[in-house]
Amino acid sequence: MDEREELYIGGKWISPKGKGSIEVMNPATEEIIGKVPIGNSEDLDLAIKYARDAFISWSESSIETRIDYLNRLTTAIKENSETMAQLITSEVGTPIEYSRMAMVGTPRVVTRSYAKILESFEWEEEVRNSLIVKEPVGVVGMITPWNFPLHQIIGKVAPAIASGCTMVLKPSKEAPLNSFLLADLIHSIGLPKGVFNLVSGHGSDIGEEMATHPGLDMISFTGSTGAGIRVSELASQSVKRVSLELGGKSANVILEDADISKASSVAVNACFGNSGQECSALTRLIVPKIHLKQVIEVVVNKIEKYNVGNPLEEGTRCGPLISKKQQESVNSYIRSGIDEGAKLLIGGEGMPDGLTKGFFVRPTAFSEVKSNMTIFNEEIFGPVLSIISYENEQEALKLANDSQYGLSGGVWSSDESKAITFARKMRTGQVSINGGRFNVTAPFGGYKKSGNGRELGIHGLEEFLEIKSIQR
Ligand code: NAD
Repeated sequence: MDEREELYIGGKWISPKGKGSIEVMNPATEEIIGKVPIGNSEDLDLAIKYARDAFISWSESSIETRIDYLNRLTTAIKENSETMAQLITSEVGTPIEYSRMAMVGTPRVVTRSYAKILESFEWEEEVRNSLIVKEPVGVVGMITPWNFPLHQIIGKVAPAIASGCTMVLKPSKEAPLNSFLLADLIHSIGLPKGVFNLVSGHGSDIGEEMATHPGLDMISFTGSTGAGIRVSELASQSVKRVSLELGGKSANVILEDADISKASSVAVNACFGNSGQECSALTRLIVPKIHLKQVIEVVVNKIEKYNVGNPLEEGTRCGPLISKKQQESVNSYIRSGIDEGAKLLIGGEGMPDGLTKGFFVRPTAFSEVKSNMTIFNEEIFGPVLSIISYENEQEALKLANDSQYGLSGGVWSSDESKAITFARKMRTGQVSINGGRFNVTAPFGGYKKSGNGRELGIHGLEEFLEIKSIQR
């Protein structure tokens, strides 16, 4: 059991004023594996006070100092990577091999990338008679989800450290334990007190208080579109900056001249990563009618071999979903697909064969999905792939852009320039061509209801900066 009874405020672990705790469950075993405190307004006020005090000196810290702390944090994450990966697998249910790479490896590389970016970042520029200077935005409230918990946190904490901001983090209640381990690491590297503060609790109380709190200059939010809208509404009264990273329903378009077999095979991984609980999952596979039969064959074949089960076991490809609620929600989406007339190719409602415990669902694929169906339009957040066929490229583009979201996307073609031309027309924040790899220094963020912010790389740093022009 990982029982946390204190909050990290002002550079030390202190007993919270809030009462009670949140239990953390292992979604594969349904066992309680830890707990964290429920912070209240007094805890939040104190954290913000420390962060405000720390801002005075941290905002003026030298670039070398910030680089040094970012490098120390990178090393600390590296030295604790296996513990962190096991912890995240236990609280999120992510298959362990994927946890090592995506849940811990990626945030480590992101932390290091900010040390590198600082080496050459231009803080000033001259425009005619003006000197333009970039300054830290202030004290940032960070609200994060459970699905890539450490990655989402580091995507905010590392650029905040780099920019000279101070911060108060509220992690998700489903997977908060990794943020407590991160606070231990931050403490171990000696980051000045008050720069980083951790207050756990419920989104509906402490999260909303953060959105309205006059002591925060910015809210950096990652989570569902509904909660993001609520945060924006609440934050608008204090005119603080709000950066939103929200949901998605991304399209993966196979053009006629693509390597159909490879594209279809990779499409399954691009949808089922982290058991389908990825904001950038490519959940709508848009394929040319003439190749539909082949695509279906490859997809079904691949899913048949998908290894679903204990996420701590090496070789597992698909773990449980985060909670019973999420399991029920995904099953109800599968039911709606069937009810609304899509063709179930593989999977379906209920537990995978041989499993009786844990919040597992069956990896599922549908064909004959149409744009008026619920599974075409809504974020399912589980391993459910929808295959939609098209007659010509114009129709493919229309289908790809027919979404309230615009977070990610994919295009497959044997002609890269043709794929890029298509990608340019997609109303979405990221597009991967022929399975192009995730780049931790490229901006990540959404169009439309997927959000308005950009994280990672220089663009992610600039989210935490104010711009001042001095005329002379
Ligand atoms: P969620 O919206 O339920 O919770 C996210 C965070 O917001 C949590 O810390 C939660 O406590 C807090 N919260 C909830 N209601 C709040 C409120 N009214 N006021 C303030 N804070 C509140 O989302 P989740 O279930 O944790 O995460 C899954 C969602 O996050 C999916 O929609 C996914 O697409 C999205 N997501 C987006 C990105 C991205 O970068 N765009 C990355 C990961 C996840």
